[in-house]
Amino acid sequence: MQPQPISTVFENPSFDGHQEVIFVRDRESGLKAIIAIHDTRLGPALGGCRIWPFESEAAALRDVLRLSRGMTYKNALAGLKFGGAKAVIIGDESAKTPALLRAFGRAVDRLGGRYVTGEDVGMSMADLEIIRTETAHVRGIREGGVGDPSPYTAYGVLVGMRAAVARALGRNRLDGLSVAVQGLGAVGARLCQLLHEAGARLVVADIDPGKVTRMVEEFAAEGVAANRAHAAKVDVFAPCALGAVLNERTIPAIQARVVAGSANNQLATVADGRQLMERNILYAPDYVINAGGAIAIACEGPDFDINRLKRRVESIGTTLERIFARSSSDGCPPSQVADLLAEERLARAATGSA
Ligand code: NAD
Repeated sequence: MQPQPISTVFENPSFDGHQEVIFVRDRESGLKAIIAIHDTRLGPALGGCRIWPFESEAAALRDVLRLSRGMTYKNALAGLKFGGAKAVIIGDESAKTPALLRAFGRAVDRLGGRYVTGEDVGMSMADLEIIRTETAHVRGIREGGVGDPSPYTAYGVLVGMRAAVARALGRNRLDGLSVAVQGLGAVGARLCQLLHEAGARLVVADIDPGKVTRMVEEFAAEGVAANRAHAAKVDVFAPCALGAVLNERTIPAIQARVVAGSANNQLATVADGRQLMERNILYAPDYVINAGGAIAIACEGPDFDINRLKRRVESIGTTLERIFARSSSDGCPPSQVADLLAEERLARAATGSA
């Protein structure tokens, strides 16, 4: 979908009552960034920073507004004491100099802790270390933090997939089940390993053929073309690459009974959630099932306990069961039930009872 031209922030269709949207410019380093703080009712607004060569400022704005709202809902449903935000830096990775990262760090610091940043597309642990030289409001760093959140995200997807499979297929185990994993990056590759260990049969796809070969060799997976993963004849489709993979073109071709994967913004439109339900495909809402990394980052601190973190990630399964149950009693798609439950928690926070 092409981004609509916009005249102001407030008229942007993705503007959803955001609390603050900050435009940052640092001439010396060339930094152009937007920080969108969507909601702080549950606590400081947490959300990573991505660097991307957006085709226009309007596209960057639309992305940051949508992503920050998603973080509010993700953090709310994961039971975290964090609100939602996101930051985008406009540019490609070659623009990512230490001076630019430090300028971004100073911008984060000026917000006094209302925004807590972290890793996202195009950002590395090393980049976060540079940002940290200017501000303490950074999470997900290696030293004193959980580091790369992807393994926790993958574990959360596995737990969530179990809950969805139990609901849709009446099976409590994943062995013997077939799963198509689209995207074999940090989360997808780790998910393949966990699924292989659980005895599942894997169908895999990536635009990078080397990654496909690795999964074929390591886990006896079957490789398929990247643009056909959704149509594989499997029990579960796990989108772990891009957003908007569930759309009017792909949904009719899906053969799986369950969609459960890590990618953000999987539904192209709200209506696609209902399309999936009408095809009797159980969809685990993206921001619920992929919250493992956010949960890990939120659990950082002096009283960090890996067993407590594991239990919190496992609570993704219970949250999904609640969503699926309400979806079938209300006749409402799981994606909409998730939004509703998140809004209920936010409303309780506003009255001090979250
Ligand atoms: P990644 O960049 O490590 O991996 C993405 C993979 O998808 C790459 O291997 C890439 O080659 C592949 N890919 C890109 N386009 C593709 C296509 N058209 N078809 C098939 N494969 C394609 O990213 P990641 O950290 O593994 O994250 C995967 C998804 O999960 C992203 O949507 C991300 O936003 C989301 N997510 C990640 C985390 C996390 O902890 N890393 C947390 C929440 C959500």
